[in-house]
Amino acid sequence: MDALVVGGGPSGSVTALLLARAGWEVELVDRAAFPRGKACGECLNPAGVALLHAMDLLECVLAAGATPLDGWEISPRGPRVARGRFSGPDRALGIERRSFDAALLGEARRQGVRVRERTTVEAAHPGDVSTPARVRLRRPDGGKEERHASILVGADGLRSRVAQEAGLALPPQGPTRASLTWRVQGEGPPRNRGRLLLGDGCTVGFAPVGSPAASSPSLWNLTLVLTGTERTGSLREKGWELAQRVLEEGGITWSEHPEVVEGPWGSGSFHRPVRGEVQGRTLLVGDAAGYFDPLTGQGIFRALRSARLAGQVLTGGESDPNPPGSAAGLPRYPGALRSGLRWSRRLQRVIDGVLARETSRVVGLSTLRLIPGAASGLIRLTGDRPETLVRRPAPVLPGPGREGGP
Ligand SMILES: Cc1cc2nc3c(=O)[nH]c(=O)nc-3n(C[C@H](O)[C@H](O)[C@H](O)COP(=O)(O)OP(=O)(O)OC[C@H]3O[C@@H](n4cnc5c(N)ncnc54)[C@H](O)[C@@H]3O)c2cc1C
Repeated sequence: MDALVVGGGPSGSVTALLLARAGWEVELVDRAAFPRGKACGECLNPAGVALLHAMDLLECVLAAGATPLDGWEISPRGPRVARGRFSGPDRALGIERRSFDAALLGEARRQGVRVRERTTVEAAHPGDVSTPARVRLRRPDGGKEERHASILVGADGLRSRVAQEAGLALPPQGPTRASLTWRVQGEGPPRNRGRLLLGDGCTVGFAPVGSPAASSPSLWNLTLVLTGTERTGSLREKGWELAQRVLEEGGITWSEHPEVVEGPWGSGSFHRPVRGEVQGRTLLVGDAAGYFDPLTGQGIFRALRSARLAGQVLTGGESDPNPPGSAAGLPRYPGALRSGLRWSRRLQRVIDGVLARETSRVVGLSTLRLIPGAASGLIRLTGDRPETLVRRPAPVLPGPGREGGP
């Protein structure tokens, strides 16, 4: 085959479908059965929304159910909040990962990608100039199978097996962090924005998700991130109480007691650097290509952006396309990725630096409340659309007063 993609999250599905659109023969394997839930704050930032629109994928995502978000509220402590709005018609989306990921995977299937679920990559060889890449798979029936491909795409997330086997993964770095995500059902809080609440040694993200019309009572994402903690069984027991307390202190009120309908999904630790994104005939996209921190909610945007860049360098330009399976574009990928994500990576490091210490965290976030417009500025920056600081973007989401845009 021309390409084998490992992982059916957003980075894998989008890379696979872009290659298939260009006439490549593509197979995608994932150890999970879809639809599947995942540890995530489930907010797709405005740059991610714009990117889906540019790749003709926004419609299938909206059809799967999504809640438009006008902005975020940040609570350094207690009910006092800093309110930040995206610019004018620019909005984010609260999405359920189970339906978002399944929608993109379904689109990959429609483009001709052969999708194999419950199929795990156990070993991989990145290939070189003269030999194809190869992987050893475990099929759903437990049988083993070896597959060869001209190009191998590692889209297998945080602890990427492909990155490890290709010698690209570095040891985890930074502070230990663990997270728990619950799907909550209930009515009360406003559904047009997300909330980021800072507790003692923890951060809670809280946002509406899913289709507003389809789900009654409404669905929410509740994600707790703890610093200095490993993922353990006891965290699961204490985590829910802690998250509830932080929500209460942040002034979130319900008309009746909220109910957990799914989860928790656990994750951590997060800082997973790589020494490079290409080895032999193998390239990495999404979290597999290096992950830093979930706090600023840029992960899905980066997964989509890296997938698009991978698709572009592998297939070549429209006037001078590479033949299916060609490795000619691989050397261009690391540079394209570096410049395509430079902004996002720098911003995330600055925010992480501020949040790393309790004092700078409290001072930094209190400043957001005191300086008018500061919270909106930060929200726009973390939305990966710095251009919206100086000009009003064209709307891409349909809605009241927001005609579908270019
Ligand atoms: C707590 C938390 C909160 C977050 N909040 C947000 C947020 O609000 N907004 C945002 O944009 N980002 C957020 N992120 C980041 C976001 O979830 C990731 O960046 C995004 O999912 C990356 O997509 P991906 O396709 O690279 O990997 P994934 O979505 O992780 O997909 C990887 C796939 O590979 C499969 N796989 C793994 N290993 C194998 C194997 N050996 N064989 C076969 N298949 C395999 C898995 O089953 C999975 O389906 C958050 C992350 C965490 C942990």
